[in-house]
Formats: sequence, C-alpha cells, structure tokens
Amino acid sequence: MRIDLPGSDPGYYYDPRVTAGMHGEIRLSPRVERHCRCGGRPPYQIFRQPDAEPAWCPCRRYRLKTQEINRLIGSSGIPDPFRYKFLDDFYESFDGKPIEGADRLKRHLRTLIEKSRKVNAPPDAGAHAVASQPIRGYFLTGKPGVGKTYFSYVALNELIFHSGRPGKFISLSKAFFQTLRFAFDENSPMHGKSETFLRTLGNVPFLVIDDFGVQRNTEWELEMLYNLVDTRYANRRFTIVTTNKDIENVKDLAEGRLHSRFIEMCYIIRIHASDFRERTRKEYEI
Ligand SMILES: [Zn+2]
Repeated sequence: MRIDLPGSDPGYYYDPRVTAGMHGEIRLSPRVERHCRCGGRPPYQIFRQPDAEPAWCPCRRYRLKTQEINRLIGSSGIPDPFRYKFLDDFYESFDGKPIEGADRLKRHLRTLIEKSRKVNAPPDAGAHAVASQPIRGYFLTGKPGVGKTYFSYVALNELIFHSGRPGKFISLSKAFFQTLRFAFDENSPMHGKSETFLRTLGNVPFLVIDDFGVQRNTEWELEMLYNLVDTRYANRRFTIVTTNKDIENVKDLAEGRLHSRFIEMCYIIRIHASDFRERTRKEYEI
C-alpha cells in the first residue's frame, strides 16, 4: 500500500522544537500520520482480519527512512552541536549588510537540495533520479571565521536529510593522518584497514574535507589526499573543500594535480565577512 504524496512532501520533515537533548526531531508528515494504522509500533504491521497474514503499515517505509537519516547524520562525523543545522540556520547577512558569497552559496545549495530530493524518489522514478544527483561540489575559500565550516555542516545535513544517502565530514587534522598512518603500519592492529577507509571516503555520496591546507604537505600526506580526491573524481562524487588558502596557492601542491581536480570537481567560492564570527560566536563554535 502506498501513500500518494505531492512532490514537495517526502513523507517527513524536521521539527526544530527541542523536547529532549540538543536537537529537534524528524517527524512524519501529517499525510503519512493520517494513513498510519499501526500506532507507530515496530515492526509497523497491521492485521486486517484476526486470522489473516499481517501486512506492512503504509507508514513503515517513512519511519524506516527517518530512522536511517538519523543514523546517517549521527555517524557523519558532524560534531553533535552542528547536527540537524539546516539552511534556515545559516545567515547571509550581518547587520543588513550581505556577506559576500554567502547568498550565492545558499541559493546554489537550494538547487542541489532539489536535485537530491529526486534521488530520494521511489525506485520507479527511474534513471532520471540518479542522473540528477548533485556531482559538482564547492571549494570554499576565505579567512578563518567566515562560516565556511558551518556552511559545510549545513550542506551535509541538508543533503543527507533530503536524499537519505550517506555523507561524511573529515577534518584534515593531525589526528586524521595519524589514523591513516596507523592503518598503513604493519605493526598496528588497524593494519589493512587503510584501503577500506580510503575506499569508503572515496565513494561516499557526500564528503566534506575541512581545513584543507593545514596538513603538513609531506609527500605521503599529499599522495593520500590526491588519491582520495582523485577517487572521488572518478566516482563522480560530490565534495566540499573548506580552506583558508586561495585556489591559486593550491597549484604548488602535488605537482598541481590537486588544483586541477578541484577546478574540475568544484565551484570555487570565496566567502568574505570580517565580522561573521563575532556575531555568531555562540552558535558557530563548540
Ligand atoms: Zn503505521
């Protein structure tokens, strides 16, 4: 049994009211609620007649979907305070003055979200849905504190929420490379995991590479990064890179190979807002 929903209703929505913990909740849309006959009790079955075989309640696929989205957001690597932050939480102006680059970014992300909604369409929507999956990501450059990382959290939350597909957030910190190094080390219990690790990151539908440029740029680190970026390029995966570096400065790294990949895979967007961090310190920092 299928519920006939208008195209604008994926069957669920985010309710930002916080009743417990830190976030609001993903709820079933009223249309789905109206069709539910199982009372929301797992495994979401209904019994039409006492001795008949049970059937799945029409709410079931939407309940499973929202559970899956919660699981994906929870395991995305987005720090807890920034999970379930959406476009409405991202401001494109400060004291009435526009933040350069932010409104364009926001508008653009809205169109990507529309596309990812189609990916979430039922399987019989056909190849068109898959073809409209967002592919080209963002290379977000700007000084520290302009909201690049915050925007990337928002984008990742939105894309996971609307597509129901996985996304990951990684920060190119020392710890990241240390983990990777362990995975390559023959004497480490993580040995052999490196391929799985890189393959997962290389293939996940949405990836944020935060703080590009803080790596030490050893040959090994750059090779790892290039492999990751190149795998995503080959797989046509959506990638967001945030960095304090100018795209021109990336030319010197890995013989310019990273630069050319970024240019091919991403829209280059510079965000400029000197006082953004000042105003939103409370919200934007952990
Ligand atoms: Zn139900």
